Amino acid sequence: MKICVLPGDGIGQEIVAQALRVLKKVGEKYGRTFETTEALIGGCAIDAEGVPLPADTIAKCKDADAVLLGAVGGPKWDTIDPAIRPEKGLLGIRKELGLFANLRPATLFKQLADACYLRPDIVAKGLDVMVVRELTGGIYFGEPRFDGEKDGERFGYNTMTYYEHEIRRIARVAFEAARKRSGRVCSVDKANVLDVSRVWREIVIDEHKNYQDVELSHMYVDNAAMQLVRDPSQFDVVVTGNLFGDILSDEAAAITGSIGMLPSASLGESNPGLYEPIHGSAPDIAGQDKANPLATILSVSMMLRHSFDMTEEADCIESAVEKTLEQGYRTGDIWQEGGKSVGCVEMTDAVLANM
Ligand code: NAD
Repeated sequence: MKICVLPGDGIGQEIVAQALRVLKKVGEKYGRTFETTEALIGGCAIDAEGVPLPADTIAKCKDADAVLLGAVGGPKWDTIDPAIRPEKGLLGIRKELGLFANLRPATLFKQLADACYLRPDIVAKGLDVMVVRELTGGIYFGEPRFDGEKDGERFGYNTMTYYEHEIRRIARVAFEAARKRSGRVCSVDKANVLDVSRVWREIVIDEHKNYQDVELSHMYVDNAAMQLVRDPSQFDVVVTGNLFGDILSDEAAAITGSIGMLPSASLGESNPGLYEPIHGSAPDIAGQDKANPLATILSVSMMLRHSFDMTEEADCIESAVEKTLEQGYRTGDIWQEGGKSVGCVEMTDAVLANM
């Protein structure tokens, strides 16, 4: 398996280095060979090559079976020409690889239940939701769009569009993901108001005919936003369009209260998937061995599960992370009274020992 590694900026360098130690260990344990090649993205690419996404990086990513990314950005590049900001590297690589599906698990490890913003009785029922968000269509890209004036006043609009093939392929990703989890998909739309949502719902129902082993339900987005905080345990996989997914995936992540713990995956049709923590480059703690490496380590386990179908290997990493939390190891972001305070490297040492 060939993996293109893009550490990026800030804590990206530190957390990716630690995640690669975990990848190496899982390879040794299960007799797998992972070949890694590194490339530049974001601010470090701007410094070295003048652009946030050099052609060499695109080529290396396309040549790989999967991509592991740290994070990009930082104050050093905040005042740079907007056309070449570090974030352009991220958007660019997603586009180059045709990544239309964003998978964001929001999992609350029971050891970190105190960090969750919900009431203890709600937390006790569990929080393990996977939001599958359509990433390249919908209102963020729909045409026509307008920002101007009409009838003597400011006026603007965007258009929410979805073709059947865009809905089918994201529905398939959600059904496949559910098969690897608890087998339930909730499709979120606004079919009571929006025409585009009625098309969405019709196609999801039709595609479901190929996944009769998966349970399908539907929910309006306003209700889904409420149900996520009232009783998140009712959800397994949530599939939705770009705009609703943007909001719901952040909501689901935020209620866990642990930004340093959450991985993500972006998948396309046949190109390599891209795996990254949901947090940014955390310039305030970069280079101090303070970053929590677990979101990136869990991104590696997502890669093994979704790109390489290595279920046992992924389970091994996830169990080791749980055990490490159980043993009380805590970086600053998830610090609790009575915990063992560790840095990025020592946290990874503990995960490796538990593998
Ligand atoms: P951030 O996620 O980098 O940091 C928010 C807060 O969470 C900070 O206090 C940080 O120290 C903490 N934090 C984040 N990850 C952590 C970890 N693994 N361990 C411990 N603490 C952690 O968000 P921000 O401060 O808004 O952005 C900083 C930079 O990152 C900006 O340049 C922004 O554009 C960029 N950014 C990049 C991505 C990405 O690469 N995908 C995502 C978001 C932000």
